[in-house]
Amino acid sequence: MQITEMYKSLQGESTHSGLPCVFVRLTGCNLRCSWCDSEFSFYGGKKMTLQEVLSEVAGLSAGGLVEITGGEPMLQEREVVPLMEQLLDAGYQVLLETSGERPLARVPKQVVKIVDVKCPHSGEPDTFALENLEALQPRDELKFVLTDRTDYEFARDFTQRHNLAKRVNAVLFSPAFRKEATGARDSSHCLLDPQELADWMVADNVPARLGLQLHKFIWDPALKGV
Ligand code: SF4
Repeated sequence: MQITEMYKSLQGESTHSGLPCVFVRLTGCNLRCSWCDSEFSFYGGKKMTLQEVLSEVAGLSAGGLVEITGGEPMLQEREVVPLMEQLLDAGYQVLLETSGERPLARVPKQVVKIVDVKCPHSGEPDTFALENLEALQPRDELKFVLTDRTDYEFARDFTQRHNLAKRVNAVLFSPAFRKEATGARDSSHCLLDPQELADWMVADNVPARLGLQLHKFIWDPALKGV
């Protein structure tokens, strides 16, 4: 499979935020989100066998969390499904970060899918495949990255219409971060002010949790591999 990078850091998002985690970033994406912070993963990378990836993961961590991310990892479904199966067999807890544009039915059930449903102002609206709602497991998480009120209302209405809070472990509303953000490690880089988002969520009593990208507040937001 084609790999952009592998490294160990703290998980910055989802309900696993703050935990040590090995990241396996696959190369290539079929979407072009306006706020994407992983454009370096669109091209290039290194071809690695399943065994090579497994032994590099083992070298980084003897257990715990592994996140398969990208890019869009499900573009390499034929390779990434066996990788997830073998990581599970080796005792790792496996997270899969995906847009939900590709079919998710073949993802092993023990994998925690973190599905990033694209909002109207992401630049890639309407790309989530609705049939993937049927592939969701109670351990999974749905994420909405928000730039403004329109995105928020889409996320709120989608959450309610599809009864997401009952289907999955967590629904996450996360302010988008500016792509070019660097230097200051604070919420001034968010495209949507977290305080404003918090006010809206409380007012609407939305069954979702506000998520900030922890790694952008710990390290310089421009740093890669953290
Ligand atoms: S799906 Fe993810 S990797 Fe692809 S463009 Fe959007 S944010 Fe970037």
